Formats: sequence, structure tokens, C-alpha cells
Amino acid sequence: MTTTDTTPHILISGGGIAGHALALQLVRSGIRTTVVERADAPRAGGQAVDLRGASRVVAERMGLMPGIEARLLHERGLSYVDGSGRVFGRMSMEDFDGKGAVAEIEIARGDLDEVLREALAAASAEAPGLLDLRYGDRIAAIAQDADGVDVAFERAAGERFDLVVGADGVHSATRRLAFGPEEDFSTYLGGYMAFFTLPTPSDVEPGWFSMRFVPGATFGIRPDFDPATSKAIITLRVDRDPALRGDRAAQEALVRRSLEDAGWHAPTVIDAMREASDFYFDELARIDVPQAANGRVVLIGDAGACGSPMSGMGTATALIGAYLLGARIAETPGDPAASARRYSADIVPFAEAGKQLMGGGIQRMVPANRFEALMSRAMTKVMLSRLARPIVKKMFAANQEELPLPVTAPAPVRATPVE
Ligand SMILES: Cc1cc2nc3c(=O)[nH]c(=O)nc-3n(C[C@H](O)[C@H](O)[C@H](O)COP(=O)(O)OP(=O)(O)OC[C@H]3O[C@@H](n4cnc5c(N)ncnc54)[C@H](O)[C@@H]3O)c2cc1C
Repeated sequence: MTTTDTTPHILISGGGIAGHALALQLVRSGIRTTVVERADAPRAGGQAVDLRGASRVVAERMGLMPGIEARLLHERGLSYVDGSGRVFGRMSMEDFDGKGAVAEIEIARGDLDEVLREALAAASAEAPGLLDLRYGDRIAAIAQDADGVDVAFERAAGERFDLVVGADGVHSATRRLAFGPEEDFSTYLGGYMAFFTLPTPSDVEPGWFSMRFVPGATFGIRPDFDPATSKAIITLRVDRDPALRGDRAAQEALVRRSLEDAGWHAPTVIDAMREASDFYFDELARIDVPQAANGRVVLIGDAGACGSPMSGMGTATALIGAYLLGARIAETPGDPAASARRYSADIVPFAEAGKQLMGGGIQRMVPANRFEALMSRAMTKVMLSRLARPIVKKMFAANQEELPLPVTAPAPVRATPVE
């Protein structure tokens, strides 16, 4: 193919939130798009993610809100429980005007991904031949020159593209191949997080995200869209162990050890973990990439900037990034490298905001030992008391200063709402 066409061919590595959102934008703009996802099927996992400020505006402009609203979690708030399940503190959604730990718009990550994939299928049906969605493959090598990027795949034959977008998450292979080794960009934040689906225990309060502090860990049970199931959320405060990467048995063993004396629903959570088909486990890492664009290779979502799931901002930043890059490419389709450069400047304030840890990082969020677990409980009681609520409310609100979108990007072409 020639790379001087005004309709470029773009490769997206990674079919997660960022990859699907960008593909949607591109296909709607009439741009040929290939998505290569290393998993054999879409990855359905993840617990509630929230959309606030600019990410909500983006979801609206992309016509995603009807689909999102149909899958809203309607969470009532966050409650803290002791070893026998008694609630000792609450942060309700209303008391914090949707700006506390639980926002007005909460949707399970897998459900948001499904909304994006449905929209993508609809856009692709309206413009056949533009989208090539491949599972079970990945990029093996990238070589760029002034006019294009030659890409070798692990399974498919090599191809030349006009732009390669790394949307392949916190351990991005695109970043490694085109920017440098992971260690140059990743900072370990002191722990690991695991998420998976479990049958809802009968005594869990409907609509409430219930959470418990124990020495070295927090674990919680959070509503799912289907009330028969819930999401387990486990945060572990431990030193980094590279042997855990990709080894599910070792990851499960660590979770089991950390929760064995944790009381409340720890045994239920541990039992469900073994069976979970959507078990997700990863280290908590911040990703800092000074420039998201390197010629004709560009990074979006966690690959380019990430504050870990502790920030609660990964999905929002991924959606905003995909929207901005899509808009920039649509503006100058004949010059993808220039689009990538402009996007790289656009995303900086959002990327920086997305790295902030509202709860103050793992040292503040997860007690190291029994004494700290008791202190966390006492502090939580004080902070969530009626007296302290206005101060805590202000702290949360201050952390959510709304950033305007930097381009008055046009709403994507043919943004048919997804029901
Ligand atoms: C299964 C799953 C569950 C998650 N659950 C939560 C959660 O509960 N809470 C939370 O805050 N964050 C969660 N995250 C992370 C969250 O999705 C991201 O922080 C955020 O949505 C940004 O999205 P992203 O597209 O950049 O990354 P991701 O959503 O992580 O998507 C990256 C995609 O790239 C694919 N990929 C990775 N390497 C390659 C490769 N070499 N070649 C091709 N494809 C590759 C992955 O399989 C994945 O589909 C989860 C991620 C996944 C994959």
C-alpha cells in the first residue's frame, strides 16, 4: 500500500477500553483500522469504573450514554465493615454529591467494554471493510521510517501501516518496542490488586460496596449489574515479586495467604477465586512517558500514562485519550505523525490528573500491620462522622477539578446511540 493516501491505515495494539474507543472513532471517521488483541476473545473482567467530568462529556459525544445508562450499577455508596460484617462507616453517593468514592455513573469495566464493542460493530456494519478485529495475535517487531511503519506479528503476515497505536495496557509491548524497556517508564506503587466475579453472599447489603481493612490488605465486595453476582476487590501491600507476573497459581496463593485470617467474607472470596473465569491480578504501577508520540507510533490509555487502579482514573483517561487522538487523526488524516504529536500535547493535563491517587497511595489505603488496621478503622469512623463530612467532601471535590477538553472536537460522524 502507499502511505501517502489521505485515508490512512492504522494499527491499534490492544483491544481494551482505549483500543476499542479509538477504533470506534476511526471507523466512524472512515479510516481503515486494524485492532490486534493478544487474548483469544474480548476480556470481560473488571469491577466498577466511573465516568466524571471530561470522560462523561466524551461518552456523551460518542453516543455511548444510552448503552452506559442501560448498564448503570446504581451504587448507593461505600461502607466499611468489621470482621463480623458490622458496618462502622459509610460514604453514601448522595451525601458526597456523587463526588465521593462512588460516583453517579458507575459501570462494570467489562460492561463498558461491551457498550464500546456494540457501537463498534454498528459503525463497522455501516462502513463495511474498514475494521479488521483480530484476536490471539500480537506485534512482534516494529520498524518505522518517514513514510510508514513495518509491523511483524507473531501469527499473521507482516504489514505496513501509517500509524501504530499502543493501547496495550500497563505492560505495553508497543511501548517496549518503540520507546524503551518497561523499567524506564514504570514505578512500582507498593502492592497488587485482584478483581473477579463471585456469587453475591446473601448478607451483603444490596447496592453497597462493602470493604474491610486487615493487616497488609483491604478486601471488598462490590455490586455487579446482575444482583446475583458481585465483584471481589483485593488490594495487597507487599514488596514487588517479578515471579508473580503471569503465574495465576502464585497470585492466588498470595491472595489466600493475605486473607486467611481476615474474617467477614474472606473464605467466600477465596473459594470463589479458584472458580473465577475473569480473575484479574496485576501490580500497582504508575506509568510516566514524557512524550506519548514517537514519530508514527503513539501510546494511549495505560500504555502512555497510568496511576494504577488506585487512581480510579484509568478508564476515564483512556476514553478521553482515544477521543482526542481520534479527533486529531480525523483533522489531518494525511499526516498521522502530526496528529500523534498534537495528541501527545493535548493529553498531558489529563494524563497528569489521572495519575493522582485520591486516597493518598497504598501507605494510606492499606494498613501494614494490626496496629495500622485498628488506626485505619478509627480514622475512617472519624472522617465519615457527620461532623467531619464537610471537610472530607471538600477534599474529594478539590481532587476532581474539571479539565476542559482541549479541542472542540466534532462529534464523531454517525454516532448512532447504542441501546
Ligand atoms: C480484564 C481487565 C480487568 C480490569 N479491571 C479493572 C478494574 O476493575 N479497575 C480498574 O481500575 N482497572 C481495571 N483494569 C485496567 C483498566 O481497564 C485500565 O486502567 C483502563 O481502562 C485503561 O484501559 P486500556 O485500554 O489502556 O488498558 P486495558 O483495559 O488493560 O486493555 C489493554 C488491552 O491490551 C491487551 N494487550 C496487552 N498486551 C498486548 C499485546 N502485546 N498485544 C496485543 N494486545 C495486548 C490486553 O489483553 C487488554 O485487552 C482492567 C483491565 C483488564 C484487562
